[in-house]
Amino acid sequence: MSSPASGRKSRPSLPSPASASRRGSSAVRAGAGSDIPLARRSRPVSAPQANWAVRLRSTLLGGLLVGLLGVGLATGPLRPWLTPAPVAGLNARLSSDGRLLGHLPYPEAPASSLALVAPELQLRPEAAKSFLAMQRAAAANGVDLTVISAFRSIELQRHLFFDVGAERNQSPQSRAKVSAPPGFSEHSTGYAVDVGDGHRPETNLSTSFETSPAFAWLEANAARYHFQLSFPKHNHQGVSYEPWHWRYVGSTEALQQFEPAHRLARQLP
Ligand SMILES: [Zn+2]
Repeated sequence: MSSPASGRKSRPSLPSPASASRRGSSAVRAGAGSDIPLARRSRPVSAPQANWAVRLRSTLLGGLLVGLLGVGLATGPLRPWLTPAPVAGLNARLSSDGRLLGHLPYPEAPASSLALVAPELQLRPEAAKSFLAMQRAAAANGVDLTVISAFRSIELQRHLFFDVGAERNQSPQSRAKVSAPPGFSEHSTGYAVDVGDGHRPETNLSTSFETSPAFAWLEANAARYHFQLSFPKHNHQGVSYEPWHWRYVGSTEALQQFEPAHRLARQLP
């Protein structure tokens, strides 16, 4: 069976002389018998101008892209990639809103600004005073609020994060789910406290604390003493639920320090 084109050995895709003549006089001069498609040899009369315009356009476009990249690196979302990891030993970078693995950055309270809230445990004086008043009120209701942890220096937080994490065979990334990296803990502000139930010590630092009388009492009364739960279930920071961890928000300075956290909490889901 022969193909319909078997009678013609020439390339069927070549333009006919008639169509070539429509492409311009140079195409006609090149001759109809050439093997090279005429369209590829002929150049439009305006080609030099077109090339100049294309070059100008691509130069402007390139300049615009370089400019946008520069702005992005200096101020925008690309900036974190220019700066080194904020915590040595933890391979994680800041998100665009300044969080590290969900945790917001916090300064360390000056040692001179702290007051005892329990033996060897300190808070800012206004937070300590309010907590002690709350503790007395709870005791009057038969509830024993104990202080498990209060102010922690950034250095102590570094030890808790890396050394305790290593003891527990946790990678820094998985450790960050249960402990804030140094420089990113509310405890460093002197306004945060981990609360236990003296009658239910087995629930200390466990989500089962939410079943304790102490937690029920705090839920009902802590706001009157300007304490709030920092990391409720499904919090916007993406930090694990910590029913035992409460922050003091009863002073201007405390409110200022926790404003970024409040801003996140106000965001709609
Ligand atoms: Zn805590």
